[in-house]
Amino acid sequence: MKSKWLRLVLLALGFLWAYARFPVNLHAVENVPRIDVILWFYTEDYLLPASDDAAKRVADMLTQRNIRATFKIVGEKARTLERRGRRDVIAALQKHDIGFHSDFHSVHPTPSEYLADCGFLDGVAEFARREGDGAADVRRILGVPTLACYGQPGSSWAAQAVAALGQIGVAPSGVPCYVDEGTHVGLNQKPFWYAGALNVYHLGANYTRMELHNPAAVGPAKQKVSEIAERLARQDGGGLISIFYHPCEWVHREFWDGVNFPRGRNPPREEWKAPPQRSVEETEAAFERFGEYLDHIRSIPGARFVTASDLPTIYSDSVRTEGATERELDELAKRILNGTSNALNFQLVAKKAFSVADQFELFTFAVSDLSAGKKLKLPLITRGLFGPDHPPSTSKDERHVGWPAFRDAVVDTREFIQTQQRVPANVFIGAESVSPADFLVGLASAYEHERQSGKLPEQVMLGRNIILLPERQVAEDTPGLFGGWVIHKSDFRAPKILQVARLQTWTLKPAIRHEGNVKPSRPLNQ
Ligand SMILES: [Zn+2]
Repeated sequence: MKSKWLRLVLLALGFLWAYARFPVNLHAVENVPRIDVILWFYTEDYLLPASDDAAKRVADMLTQRNIRATFKIVGEKARTLERRGRRDVIAALQKHDIGFHSDFHSVHPTPSEYLADCGFLDGVAEFARREGDGAADVRRILGVPTLACYGQPGSSWAAQAVAALGQIGVAPSGVPCYVDEGTHVGLNQKPFWYAGALNVYHLGANYTRMELHNPAAVGPAKQKVSEIAERLARQDGGGLISIFYHPCEWVHREFWDGVNFPRGRNPPREEWKAPPQRSVEETEAAFERFGEYLDHIRSIPGARFVTASDLPTIYSDSVRTEGATERELDELAKRILNGTSNALNFQLVAKKAFSVADQFELFTFAVSDLSAGKKLKLPLITRGLFGPDHPPSTSKDERHVGWPAFRDAVVDTREFIQTQQRVPANVFIGAESVSPADFLVGLASAYEHERQSGKLPEQVMLGRNIILLPERQVAEDTPGLFGGWVIHKSDFRAPKILQVARLQTWTLKPAIRHEGNVKPSRPLNQ
């Protein structure tokens, strides 16, 4: 009898312990909206040795709290840790997600500098050539098979970098991931798909942080993160908050790269110098405040910490896995043909997001099968295409195309996207070419005609000067966009990077968050 009571008491204590330790699981039961918090660290300072200790201490204090974060590591930082024999730092970081943050970060030329005059394909190749070895070093030194994400140094962004991630081994669960903060491209301050990758970028009002070295910043920072969580819960039934730091912020007075590489300066390695360091007291106080901030975030109802490698599960793209049904194809065709003002856009149908490139891929395959007299293999799964590598040439004037010429163009386009995995810049109809956007309207009209009449049309009507609405999500070329980063020359502009970026908005679409029992990859997260 006595032992039965003891068992009951122990069971009750066990529940209390579990609730204190894993409140999120119980929140989920109570239907509190889920707030995912991605906490990530630019692990980049390879000059000041105290930054190594700071990285270890940050990693350890998170591990102690059962929080997994994402450490985006610079290639030269990983090699420096190896050279300095800091196995202890490496071991502490290995308890977290390991991402990539370029090979040398601020040594010139930076990614935007060397990509400024590139097109899409040569830019992807150049990024992979310059950064691929660094990514391989981070994987080797940290002992991970793939890197969880990449994000650019400073404002040194380019679409070619996003598109190259699969090539340099930055693809958790086979899905390239981009995690950073900036304004070059974005979509409603939420995660989005772009250039073949899942992007957490331009989170705007859903990005926050606490200034580490100001005691007065703690209260307002806690309030701000709570307000974001409340707004996301209220408006969207949950969402993602992005928070980042640099481990070196705890120990330095000035950024390591600002000391050495400002405004295009590029001293040789022999002249690199470590930045001035903070006092022990300042560093200690900053760690104390950070712990308080973390504990506050943990106490937010429904909040849980996620890492970059959790993103492909949380935002899995059902257009790639489940494909498009007949009804969805019908709806997409209708929207392409009856859409507003001569424009194409990504579309949300039945909780699936279809980029314009997805629509192009789907209707190319659908019409090609129909024209071969085949039944559609539904649902139709997309592999995912990149956008065109350059803008279309001048377009054919005549909009009416006879069926045989259109059919031949469809067959050729199908072969192009199968071999090149991108939307063609031009679609040839005989000697003349049309833009892929105008051609997509023709594909949708041929598809709809077949669906309604049971036969293919004798003539196909193409679109005329069709524009891509997602292009508007790319930033304008303003002086501060690239030049605002202290490492770039103050007058550095990169309009061609933005032109290439706009072409890749063929691939832009919202990343749809899966609700319910989507668990982070490892149960430690809380
Ligand atoms: Zn950085």
